[in-house]
Amino acid sequence: MRILVAGAAGFIGSHLCDRLLAEGHTVVAMDNFITGSADNLAHLEGNSQYEFIEQDVTRPFAAPGKFDAVMNLASPASPIDYMEHPIETLEVGSKGTQNLLEVALANKARFLLTSTSECYGDPLVHPQVETYWGNVNPVGPRSCYDESKRFAEAITMAYHRRYGVATNIARIFNTYGPRMQLDDGRVVPAFVDSALHNQPFTVFGSGSQTRSFCYVSDLVDGLCRLAMSDERYPVNLGNPLEMTILEFAEHIKAVSGSSAPIEFRPLPEDDPKRRKPDISKAKALLGWEPKVPLDKGLAETIAYFRKKTASVAA
Ligand code: UDP
Repeated sequence: MRILVAGAAGFIGSHLCDRLLAEGHTVVAMDNFITGSADNLAHLEGNSQYEFIEQDVTRPFAAPGKFDAVMNLASPASPIDYMEHPIETLEVGSKGTQNLLEVALANKARFLLTSTSECYGDPLVHPQVETYWGNVNPVGPRSCYDESKRFAEAITMAYHRRYGVATNIARIFNTYGPRMQLDDGRVVPAFVDSALHNQPFTVFGSGSQTRSFCYVSDLVDGLCRLAMSDERYPVNLGNPLEMTILEFAEHIKAVSGSSAPIEFRPLPEDDPKRRKPDISKAKALLGWEPKVPLDKGLAETIAYFRKKTASVAA
């Protein structure tokens, strides 16, 4: 297949490109580098099955050639990034998603939207099932991301219902692995950075809030399976292994052998208290569940950050 990947220079987008190329597909990658990095795709230069186009998908653009599938991963995704770029985040979920849906429609191509567990907001149902409509603050600091993705889901369903586009919607939960940005403020890079530099682990609030972390190769496998399915409604993709942020800090300390202290900082506004995917639907529909153990995934991630930090310092 010839596949358009928007947001290809991001953390998950770049791993998806690798996987699609390894499966023998041709990839046309797009990104405007608002938060993505050319480094994440540098190893693909020279691959005859791969082409990169620098493009802001919120602006009108002509997608060259014929496509069999369009995969939309374009969006700032870390809280620091989307709060720094709230308008761009709203635009990419709305105009950007519509522009990409138009490409899918014109090409009679499949369309995959990568949405988010943030659609559930600060959830009142636990674990989160796809049929839960969420508890989102529409005007809070996270609203630019949450409502952008909720709109993206709505317009994706509208293109399916109105024009019959073969759409899929993934609701991605916390994902980690190599190629996360060192300084995007998310908890994995923040704690790994603390471990590598023997700096305090900054736990926000009491650290009793929970998250469930999925390794990137597992997530990408789920995306590929979903993109081939006929399921039109959202499917959760994430690892159901839930832990408190304090436990997570202790875990990274142990895996990295760090002796740095844990320090507590104020909890950001609207920080969800609990998050854990119910993945029964993905299991039944796609035969998918995460396989990479947390310790193995963290070891790979720490090794990546160690190398990256050394090359930045050199
Ligand atoms: N967090 C933390 N210390 C940090 C960064 C994040 O305690 O240095 C917490 C944050 O408050 C949240 C969780 O870790 O409860 C996950 O944060 P992240 O920004 O990675 O993603 P989120 O799941 O909130 O979108």
